[in-house]
Amino acid sequence: MQKVLQALLDLQSVDVRLIDVRARLAKFPKKIAEVDARVAAAKAELEASKAAQLATIKDRKKYELDVEGWNEKVRKYKDQTSQIKTNEAFRALQHEVQMAEEEIAKAEDRLLEQMVASEEYDRRIKASQIALKEVEEITRVERMKIEADAAAAEKELAELNERRKRAAADISEKLLDHYDRIVKKHNGIALAEVRDEKCGACGMRVRPHVFQEMRRLGSEEMFHCETCTRILYYIEPSVSAAPAATSASASSHSES
Ligand SMILES: [Zn+2]
Repeated sequence: MQKVLQALLDLQSVDVRLIDVRARLAKFPKKIAEVDARVAAAKAELEASKAAQLATIKDRKKYELDVEGWNEKVRKYKDQTSQIKTNEAFRALQHEVQMAEEEIAKAEDRLLEQMVASEEYDRRIKASQIALKEVEEITRVERMKIEADAAAAEKELAELNERRKRAAADISEKLLDHYDRIVKKHNGIALAEVRDEKCGACGMRVRPHVFQEMRRLGSEEMFHCETCTRILYYIEPSVSAAPAATSASASSHSES
């Protein structure tokens, strides 16, 4: 194989890994955000329980005041009893007392409800606190793992960038530019191996005289697929290898 094609293949193998590393790196912010969101949700749950508890306490105070107010009224009505002159007025006052006592009973029922609710919110607050602690502990470990993975990916990226520089050093600027353009067009794959006289990427048949020239020892010409424009290369299968299917395993085999 031509030296320049080998250099382009090296470059492509680095580029394929670069695409993978960059894709991995792009996912880390989202992963961290997901972890943060879980902690935020647990915190919100706790805050909601606390707010509900506060509201209950407020309501309780209001109902306590209601009970006091109605009790005060009942006392007043009873004080008035001694001054009542007619049966009618007495019955009317009795009715007022009865109404007030009913209101007291209602307010006391509400008070009891609020006390039961308050106990429930106490339990909820405690459960939310435990859940938050658990989530914080789990996400702390997860965040460390994500950050370690991200650091490893960053390191790999730096190494690959170095390797790319070295691989690109043997390729002319013009060819490199050409390669990069095809890479952009084809999501990172600019070269295609010719197999069974066809482009390994798009399957287009390679013209016989082109294939012949590609196989010629000492050939300097570079060929492109007529359909997908990828740079074509051909690896001569070793004599012992079975035809076609194992051509990839002959990559170490070099005659040119
Ligand atoms: Zn093609």
